[in-house]
Amino acid sequence: MAVIIDGKDISDRVKSEVRDRTLLLKRERGIQPGLAVVLVGEDPASKIYVRGKRKACEQVGFHSRELTFPSDLEEEELLRIVEELNRDESIHGILVQLPLPKHIDKEQVVEAIDPKKDVDGFHPYNVGKLFSGTSYHMSCTPLGIIELMDRYRIAIEGREAVIVGRSAIVGKPLALMLMNRHATVTVCHTKTRNIADVTRRADILVAAAGRAEMIRGDMVKDGAVVIDVGINRTDGGKLLGDVAFAEVEPKASYITPVPGGVGPMTIAMLMMNTLNAAARS
Ligand code: NDP
Repeated sequence: MAVIIDGKDISDRVKSEVRDRTLLLKRERGIQPGLAVVLVGEDPASKIYVRGKRKACEQVGFHSRELTFPSDLEEEELLRIVEELNRDESIHGILVQLPLPKHIDKEQVVEAIDPKKDVDGFHPYNVGKLFSGTSYHMSCTPLGIIELMDRYRIAIEGREAVIVGRSAIVGKPLALMLMNRHATVTVCHTKTRNIADVTRRADILVAAAGRAEMIRGDMVKDGAVVIDVGINRTDGGKLLGDVAFAEVEPKASYITPVPGGVGPMTIAMLMMNTLNAAARS
């Protein structure tokens, strides 16, 4: 029987700590952290995420600014808006909600954000700094995974970590973070041969492939820590992780559920990054 990692509880605790530090920052230095969220187009999932971010800002006492634009917004105009936010002293975090419409070059836009305000941790400066172990901001989902493990006092150093998925927002930054914490890290992807042989070596197994229940019971070592990043919606509207929970849970020592595991941590870490940006300003 595994310990079920309660991401909702931990994310509430993180947000409550952010709220306390925000009060202190206001009282002592007169700074209220500010987050700007830029949304281009009508993507329904993006709208839900943006609403969630606004709600979290209210919970922790930040001021938030939402800038929404139609999907035909010119790239140049978006770059100008980002520049304006870079100069705005009341804004400490800038987040451009992805995906962007196809005519806009995502890389250009991300690179236009001041790295100090890049609370998503996607700017090449912040990504590059992660190589040396320190950066202003680190990608929120992998940061949330590390935070969950730390709060549950799960040891990372010296352990064999296997990540399934090598995306720029989850798999790759998480590999660096785990390496920086002295894990031995293997990253799997669609060209990995005999993936079960690799995942069975893991003391810490992270599934971030976006394939419903692809991690089966026989792919997991007894006693492994299993972190499920996947969010897959079935035709019936049910949420499934990348891990076949019922098969894997009896073998694992710790496991994150979907929903209520990694998911809530992403926004909590976004709040933490924004607070840190304000505190450093
Ligand atoms: P991407 O689609 O960008 O990347 C998926 C990665 O998984 C790729 O590297 C891909 O390999 C690999 N992969 C896919 N299928 C397999 C397979 N069968 N075997 C081995 N590797 C495979 O996804 P993201 O990283 O953006 O997201 C991954 C999942 O996490 C999604 O379900 C997403 O919804 C969820 N997510 C959850 C978040 C949260 O807050 N909880 C935040 C972000 C994402 P290759 O490179 O070879 O194509």
